[in-house]
Amino acid sequence: MNKAQNFIVLDRRAYKESDALITCYVEGVGILNMIARGANKPTSKYGSLLQPLRMFEGFINVRPGLSLFKTAKLKNRYPDIEASILALAVASFIAKVLANNAMDDAQMISYDTLASYLQSIDDQHALSVGTHFLMRLAQKHGVALYLEGCVICKSKQVSALSLIKGGFLCPAHETMQPAILHDVEFFKQLRCLSKADIHQIHQCGSQTNRTHMGLYVGLLEQIIAIPHKNWKFIQQI
Ligand SMILES: [Zn+2]
Repeated sequence: MNKAQNFIVLDRRAYKESDALITCYVEGVGILNMIARGANKPTSKYGSLLQPLRMFEGFINVRPGLSLFKTAKLKNRYPDIEASILALAVASFIAKVLANNAMDDAQMISYDTLASYLQSIDDQHALSVGTHFLMRLAQKHGVALYLEGCVICKSKQVSALSLIKGGFLCPAHETMQPAILHDVEFFKQLRCLSKADIHQIHQCGSQTNRTHMGLYVGLLEQIIAIPHKNWKFIQQI
C-alpha cells in the first residue's frame, strides 16, 4: 500500500463513456492528469465531490502519461471561494493558468503557494491574489516590473508606468516614453502587492482592480498560455 497524497483539483472534463479526466496538483509531485473511472456516472460518489478548487487526501496511481485516481476524501473546499463569483472566477483563472501550462512547467508555483492562494481568495481580496499570482510568474520569467522608483533614474517620485521600459517612470521621464498614466494610489497598490509575501496580501487592502491584474495579463500573454475566456469573465463581473 502506498502513502496517501494531498492534491488540489484544477480542472475536470468528461472522458469516454462515464469517466472524468482530472487535472490536479499533487503535493511533492506536480501537476498531472488522471482518470477517475466511472466518476461521471450518476451513482458515483465522486461525481459531485471531485470538483475543481478543492483539496483532497487520497490515493493516486501515478504513471507516466495518464495517472489513475483511486480514492480520496475531502480536506478543504474553500468556502470563501464558493461564496463569491469574483473569488470563484479568480481562483478558476489561477487553476487554468497552472493546468494550461503544465506541459511546459508542472510546478509553475509550489503546492504550498497554491494552497495559500486558495486560502487567501475571498470577495474582497480576489483581485489582489490574482495580481500577486501573476507578479510571481512575471518574476519567474524574468519580466518583473521595477516598482522601487523610476526605472530610468531611480527617482522615488513616480507618475507613470511603462511596460516597454519595465517599470515606473518619474514626471521627467514619463513624457519620453509610451507611458501608462494612473493616480498615485494605483501605483502604491502595485508596489504594496509586489512587496507582500503570500500571507501579507490582505494587508494591502482591497483596492486592487482589474487594471492592476490586466497589466500583468498583458505582460505575460506572449510568454505563457493565458486562459482568455477566464480573464474575460473576470472583467465582466
Ligand atoms: Zn526618471
